[in-house]
Amino acid sequence: MGEQAAIRLQAGEVVEPARVTPVVREVDVLVCGGGVSGVGAALGAARSGAKTMVIERNAFLGGAATAVIMNTWNVPLAKMTGVAKEIAQTLAARGAGVITGPTFPFDPEAFKELATELMNAASVEILTYTWVVEPIMDGNKIRGVIVQNKSGRQAILAKTVVDCTGDADIASAAGAEFVKGREKDEKMRPMSVLFRLGGVDIKRAVEYCKRDPKNFTADPNFHILDLDNGLVRMSGFFDIVDKARTNGELPDEIHYIRFEGISVDRGVVTVNNSRVYNVDGTNAWDLTRADMEARSQNRKLFAVIKKSIPGFENSYVLDSSPTVGVRETRRVRGPHLLQQEDMMALATYPDSVARIWRHMAAGRDWHKADGGEGAPNDAVYRTGTTSLTWFEIPFGVLVPNRVEGMTIGGRALSATHDADMWSRAQYCCLVTGQVAGAAAALASENGISPSKLDIRLLQQRLAAAGIDVGDTTSVTEKALA
Ligand SMILES: Cc1cc2nc3c(=O)[nH]c(=O)nc-3n(C[C@H](O)[C@H](O)[C@H](O)COP(=O)(O)OP(=O)(O)OC[C@H]3O[C@@H](n4cnc5c(N)ncnc54)[C@H](O)[C@@H]3O)c2cc1C
Repeated sequence: MGEQAAIRLQAGEVVEPARVTPVVREVDVLVCGGGVSGVGAALGAARSGAKTMVIERNAFLGGAATAVIMNTWNVPLAKMTGVAKEIAQTLAARGAGVITGPTFPFDPEAFKELATELMNAASVEILTYTWVVEPIMDGNKIRGVIVQNKSGRQAILAKTVVDCTGDADIASAAGAEFVKGREKDEKMRPMSVLFRLGGVDIKRAVEYCKRDPKNFTADPNFHILDLDNGLVRMSGFFDIVDKARTNGELPDEIHYIRFEGISVDRGVVTVNNSRVYNVDGTNAWDLTRADMEARSQNRKLFAVIKKSIPGFENSYVLDSSPTVGVRETRRVRGPHLLQQEDMMALATYPDSVARIWRHMAAGRDWHKADGGEGAPNDAVYRTGTTSLTWFEIPFGVLVPNRVEGMTIGGRALSATHDADMWSRAQYCCLVTGQVAGAAAALASENGISPSKLDIRLLQQRLAAAGIDVGDTTSVTEKALA
């Protein structure tokens, strides 16, 4: 660390002197956040020929797919596109994912490894153990970021920055327009700590589930007992939960039990059940409280699961998510706002940059900010069903209003709280990340801001990179000609 004037305490506040910060890198595209969308963005940019760097605060890449061990996509392989499809196929080929049905469960550890491998192959520079703390601005144009890590405080300059922090950390600090949570009251979806159980006799558990279907969610995409194809996902156990609640063995927030990301052969399941409400993922005190509260819920859940569910008698806790999972915080506002009604209506856009398939149902909110998820009066969980549908991503949701030189990938894109229920899913975040990265590369190459891009050119680039860009058949044909 260089010589700095002392930080002074003055009238109950701290005064930090002006500092001189070394510039340690200059790149074409800088991806902030190496999570699900960050992996897509870095590959999208680097494979377009840009000198690309990704910065991640954790020790590893993957975001919610690894740091939250959240490992199920709600889309069949046949409808996947871009690097997401490549990742699913590669994981399956390595025995670390199941691509035989409507959903895709995978092994988070294998995802972690593959993400790094793909970055290395694309010559992306990775910097982990590093927080991105502030944008460097030239008027309303971002020129790079300040980072903080064990080496101190450093500056990294970039022609274009992609915010893939999930929380729009950099876009919001740069002055972009944004909202937090639900529009009417800023309430956000609950946080969770996930854990995995080993030693589970999946076959026995499946036989138990088949005995009384009433005790499980009716949605065939959410409750899957397909042992023949190695695809199992269990959701419900309503009778067991009701009894445990009556006996005071489960916290008030828990109304059902849910196992996903299941590896049938290995006898491993992911438990996605703790729910902590009224917490804000951009507040460190809330994150700390949510993490501790979720782990305490998990201890109670495990005791009930082991005691009451056939097949789990010999189960043990394999691991828990290293970090608390944050479902929702800030979303930027861009020239276009994604809305659920338009998605349901299969709206198409001239600036469409991706068509996203997934299992959904109108108005379905899996994680209501108000709580009561899976409760007896929650028809969405108990009796509702989903079907495979699609929606388009217009490019206008990937650029923030009021800031130039930047794109957004992942869950912080410009969408309403309701639309976010569809766009926040991992598969969608990987694809929007890839698009945001490719757009940043094209902008850097042309020395312009992403907001000024020739969208036809971008669509052609994306189509050539294998992305289903949506209802722009002529564009796709041209690229493939
Ligand atoms: C508990 C939980 C369950 C979920 N269940 C499902 C599911 O079943 N299926 C599904 O498809 N989706 C699910 N999701 C949603 C999905 O996982 C996320 O919405 C998606 O991963 C968001 O992608 P992202 O890239 O925007 O953010 P993330 O994947 O969270 O990545 C953001 C990355 O940025 C890093 N970062 C953040 N701020 C900074 C900073 N200032 N400096 C440096 N690095 C930073 C983070 O460490 C992280 O690696 C779930 C999410 C959660 C939390």
